[in-house]
Amino acid sequence: MHHRKRVLVTGGAGFLGSHLCRRLIAEGADVLCVDNFFTGTKDNILDLLDHPHFEVMRHDVTFPLYVEVDEIYNLACPASPIHYQHDPVQTTKTSVHGAINMLGLAKRIDAKILQASTSEVYGDPSVHPQTEDYWGNVNPIGIRSCYDEGKRCAETLFFDYHRQHGLNIKVARIFNTYGPNMHPNDGRVVSNFIVQALADEPITIYGDGSQTRSFCYVDDLIDGFIRLMASDDDVTGPINLGNPGEFTIKELAEQVISLAGSSSQITYHPLPSDDPMQRQPDITQARGVLRWEPSVPLQEGLKHTIAYFRR
Ligand code: NAD
Ligand code: UDP
Ligand code: UDP
Repeated sequence: MHHRKRVLVTGGAGFLGSHLCRRLIAEGADVLCVDNFFTGTKDNILDLLDHPHFEVMRHDVTFPLYVEVDEIYNLACPASPIHYQHDPVQTTKTSVHGAINMLGLAKRIDAKILQASTSEVYGDPSVHPQTEDYWGNVNPIGIRSCYDEGKRCAETLFFDYHRQHGLNIKVARIFNTYGPNMHPNDGRVVSNFIVQALADEPITIYGDGSQTRSFCYVDDLIDGFIRLMASDDDVTGPINLGNPGEFTIKELAEQVISLAGSSSQITYHPLPSDDPMQRQPDITQARGVLRWEPSVPLQEGLKHTIAYFRR
């Protein structure tokens, strides 16, 4: 019998997950959003709650899950340093036990499964820009390790389920992404700077602001997810998804102040430990294999995001 494609999105009430659920529904899928609401909220998916092709289930992915779907996007995991460092043991469990459960589920029901991995697997990189074959420079015992090593172990599990059980896997290494539905107070740099600029409060730069990041607008990223899931079976990744435009944190602060028309001053604070100095994706693979590249420049994406935070 023909049925709508049934798609499970873990972490579907979070920032990226809520955009993904909306996009999948628009494309005609039946979406099951699974979330424990640790950092996600129903507010992010309010418009979907009474949609006939959307269902939300409160569940923690560190526990087994028995459902029937065709595709799984595994996004469940807090992503900002203050959230993932709040309960570091739970963060590692979410990445590792969560991956085992979702892979076990995918194996039982023969579903395709995509993992939201991260540029953090490269740690403080000595290769620049980062290519997928770079193994990374990660501290195994630092304050970021629960996130970085949890995500690295999840990648290991994905590739072992692929080799050992023939699972159809897709691993995306996501670089810093921003946009509407970001949490206003999760401490990430884009949301922090916008909230501070709109309140005309001091902009808090950690370190001297010379460290760099590459910022991808959320719509571009979601487009990359969809293309990766739809790619040929032999495309497993890991594949970088991000915007190669690289900016210093100081440049970001200046752009936000100017776009928000703010009178905020910049203040300098200590750099947290293990904070990577530079980060830029090499997206040659995504360009070639997925025919994907970001199209929203930082300035335009920031305008949309500032407008969201004003409301
Ligand atoms: P987010 O915190 O907004 O979303 C994560 C969601 O997962 C939240 O809704 C949260 O409640 C849920 N969750 C957390 N632990 C869970 C558990 N044990 N069981 C069920 N649900 C759980 O973060 P985000 O920015 O939307 O990130 C989504 C995914 O993308 C994460 O896996 C993150 O590591 C990855 N990622 C994001 C970025 C980025 O810049 N936003 C960069 C790299 C990787
Ligand atoms: N699992 C799940 N849903 C399923 C099938 C499995 O949550 O539909 C969980 C199961 O609890 C197990 C994990 O996935 O802990 C790994 O399953 P797998 O079959 O790979 O291993 P095993 O059950 O042999 O430990
Ligand atoms: N950062 C900053 N001020 C803030 C928040 C973050 O200068 O108010 C810096 C942070 O030290 C890091 C960069 O901005 O160098 C990006 O931080 P974020 O937490 O957004 O992402 P990640 O470090 O995980 O890439």
